[in-house]
Amino acid sequence: MDDPGYFDEGDLVAVLTAQPLDRLLDYKAPEGGCFQGAFVEVPLGPRKVLGVVWGPGRGDYDRSKIRSVIRVLDVAPMRAEMQSFLGRAADYTLTPMSAMLRLATRAPGLGEPPSMRKIYRLGDTTPDRMTKARTRVLEALRDYGGLAFTLKELAEMAGVTPSVVKGLAKQGAVREEDSPRDLPFPHLDPDLPGKVLTEDQQVGADALRAAIRSGRYGTTLLKGVTGSGKTEVYLEAVAEALRMGRQALVLLPEIALTAEFLTRVEARFGARPAEWHSGATMTERRRIWRMVGQGEAQLVVGARSALFLPFRNLGLIIVDEEHDTSYKQEDGVLYNARDMAVLRAAICGARVVLASATPSLESWANAEAGKYDRLELTARFGAAVLPEMRAIDMRTEKMPAASWISPSLRQTVTDRLGKGEQSLLFINRRGYAPVTLCRACGQQIGCDHCDARMVEHRFLKRLMCHQCGETKPIPEICPSCKAEDRLAPVGPGIERLAEEAEATFPDAKIAVLSSDMFGSARALKAKIEEIAEGDADIVIGTQLVAKGHNFPNLTLVGVIDADLGLQGSDLRAAERTFQLMRQVAGRAGRAERPGTALLQSFQPEHPVIRAILSGDETGFWKAEAAERQAAGVPPFGRMAGIVLSGTDAGQVFDLGNAMARNDMAIRQIGAQVFGPAPAPIARIRGRHRVRLLVKAPKGAALQEAISRWIAPLRLKGDLRLSVDVDPQSFY
Ligand code: ADP
Ligand code: ZN
Repeated sequence: MDDPGYFDEGDLVAVLTAQPLDRLLDYKAPEGGCFQGAFVEVPLGPRKVLGVVWGPGRGDYDRSKIRSVIRVLDVAPMRAEMQSFLGRAADYTLTPMSAMLRLATRAPGLGEPPSMRKIYRLGDTTPDRMTKARTRVLEALRDYGGLAFTLKELAEMAGVTPSVVKGLAKQGAVREEDSPRDLPFPHLDPDLPGKVLTEDQQVGADALRAAIRSGRYGTTLLKGVTGSGKTEVYLEAVAEALRMGRQALVLLPEIALTAEFLTRVEARFGARPAEWHSGATMTERRRIWRMVGQGEAQLVVGARSALFLPFRNLGLIIVDEEHDTSYKQEDGVLYNARDMAVLRAAICGARVVLASATPSLESWANAEAGKYDRLELTARFGAAVLPEMRAIDMRTEKMPAASWISPSLRQTVTDRLGKGEQSLLFINRRGYAPVTLCRACGQQIGCDHCDARMVEHRFLKRLMCHQCGETKPIPEICPSCKAEDRLAPVGPGIERLAEEAEATFPDAKIAVLSSDMFGSARALKAKIEEIAEGDADIVIGTQLVAKGHNFPNLTLVGVIDADLGLQGSDLRAAERTFQLMRQVAGRAGRAERPGTALLQSFQPEHPVIRAILSGDETGFWKAEAAERQAAGVPPFGRMAGIVLSGTDAGQVFDLGNAMARNDMAIRQIGAQVFGPAPAPIARIRGRHRVRLLVKAPKGAALQEAISRWIAPLRLKGDLRLSVDVDPQSFY
């Protein structure tokens, strides 16, 4: 156990605040003293701000000017391991500590006393005057013995307006009390019977249980095809952690955090876990944050930022769908939750389980190198078998103009409709058409603020920029040559595909699933659940359907453009296509009926398409690994992206050139700087963007070198510099 230091009243303490200052500030410990790690309120100029006592003060500041900590907040102090995690994560991602602290305190009102709410129970006086409504309230309370209710509950139960209850409370016939809102989470029972595991699953569960009992850090790559029972296996690992009195965290890509998953947890442990995601209310966030810190939330299921919750005794982190790109936060603090999970676990002696049907090459290579343990589930559970995968060679299909469903695919869908089974048509492009072209002058309509084309969204009746979100009405006149009625959509997006499907299969019930067509994540999830229950014959979806949903009646997946991902210059293009296609195909045939996946491709002989079809995963990974090794790129070399931006293109380039010339710090570690070059998206929201890329050998001290490189820079005007260590996307 760590023994947090204690500071007596008046001792100098160094406080970290969430304010954008690049140093700790000295204060005097308040009356009654404080522990290291205490959350405090301190004066900063005219304001009061939240801070954490980080350690002893440095004392290099005029002592007479040092102010006192105002008060210690009534929450569990930050643990030494959390301080260390934030520090190391900051060093790794080259992020200021103030920003790390903001990530770790993403719950409002931490400084306030425990939030209270009013509850009502039977009082001991009789009201001056009885009415029917008043009688119903008192009867309802008598019926429930001594129980208390919220105003809303009680009024609803009695069928009266809240003012009736308030009136009774004023007279003392009903007692109004304050009750704390931040209640502990219900107890999860790891010893409820789980499912009877298959032999494969049992081996995996045993191995994980033993690893968790060791109480030491380690990472396991749990690989298994979709439907093989990875979730069942890792729930047993969760059970073991709970038995040992340790907390567990299950990270899911945001969209995979469904009611279905929570119901499974409830079935296994008898109660629901804490749920941390962007849709959670402020009150809920605060409750989770506090309860996690007090050890009164045993299991948190959450999106990536749950990693920064103040766990008291974290014994297990599951990263489900570990290859998913949404684990990389792409704005603000640029961190990869998968990598940070490993870091956090290493610091607190926890086990990490990375689960995926199609692991990232990073994790695959770590398992090959023996850094991670490996567990594999090879068969789907029960009768479910893997889908048969075939390519449709688009060069030999007769395609009418402006159509994307080939005759072969159409035939297969028709066959499924006849059998009452579901089909999924997959296209990874939102909107109606990716390009709007003027047939008179050839101009493509672009965004005014970004170097990107506007995408037509018929559903919204607007053109939209996918970079900055700017929208405008679909024009009738070409903005460039003023020709009338000559603008035409080019290429398919999900909405256009839906239109074609409606015309091709007029009797089928068609559901379209694209993240931008639903007002909220909740509405989208509700729709997904409807579909899973069979409420659609044909599902048309973008990438989001690839993520961990169960569609038991789905037996056909048609990929409209399997070549789409292969064209990018991204070093992970092949890996991404491979993962995405296999994930999507995995949607087919989850229950008793076997599935088929058909990939429409103009280059079915492409090695990546061939690897997807043959299911030769090891072959694919080995070939991909060999190529990256030869090129010295991740995971066999290291990279960092530097993006410079500003409204004045000349200034941005000047800065980039100056950095490229003064690259001594980078060359000293045997690394190289490439660029400056215009970023692939050279302008976003009116800001010009220039990119430098640093490539370093695997063992090099990359972050340290970058820090030394950028430290002397003074950014003029509105110039900005952001560093992305281990970049995942190159935009
Ligand atoms: P994965 O996480 O690998 O996609 P799941 O754990 O979701 O797989 O399992 C797929 C389906 O099979 C789920 O509905 C799950 O409840 C069921 N299943 C898996 N293993 C078992 C088992 N041993 N007993 C009963 N049902 C199982
Ligand atoms: Zn734009």
